[in-house]
Amino acid sequence: MDKNQLIKDKLFLYKLHDGDLTYYGLTKDPQNRLNSHKTKSNNCRSSLLDKDKMTFEILKTLENITYIDCLKEESDLIRNNECVNRQVSYNSKEDKAEYWRKYYKDNEERIRTRNLKYYTKNIDNMREKSLTYYYKHAHTQNKKYNCLCGGKYTHRHKADHNRTKIHQDYLIKDGTYPNL
Ligand SMILES: [Zn+2]
Repeated sequence: MDKNQLIKDKLFLYKLHDGDLTYYGLTKDPQNRLNSHKTKSNNCRSSLLDKDKMTFEILKTLENITYIDCLKEESDLIRNNECVNRQVSYNSKEDKAEYWRKYYKDNEERIRTRNLKYYTKNIDNMREKSLTYYYKHAHTQNKKYNCLCGGKYTHRHKADHNRTKIHQDYLIKDGTYPNL
């Protein structure tokens, strides 16, 4: 269907209300649509409404307009009124671009502060992590061990120790190395 063509049948903008929550919709067949809202398998946002208290009201009959204009009407309702609808059915690219332009403009200061905060926090975190790592690592590296050969070594110098005469002699005495 070409959304820019005039609609053939009438469409209805309607409101579901349960005394507390509101849902807005667009339909060709109000009765059928209301029934589908009332079914148990209804998985649209209208299922948040209390089915027993739900009232159905046609707000506007749309005819001789394009389908895209119908969607715009529905979107305006959703945007400008408190309701459970999450998705705005019509969102042109220009709308979205305009939305974000406005969002950044209105929130410029907040966004800048947030980014700065995030950055600062992250730097602190990184610094802290690397210090913790350093100390933990340094601790492990310098941990002293008593070797079975009677010698001592630190974790860092274990390989050096293994090459010392005292250790090599021990391995030979121990039988690990054959005495050639
Ligand atoms: Zn040793």
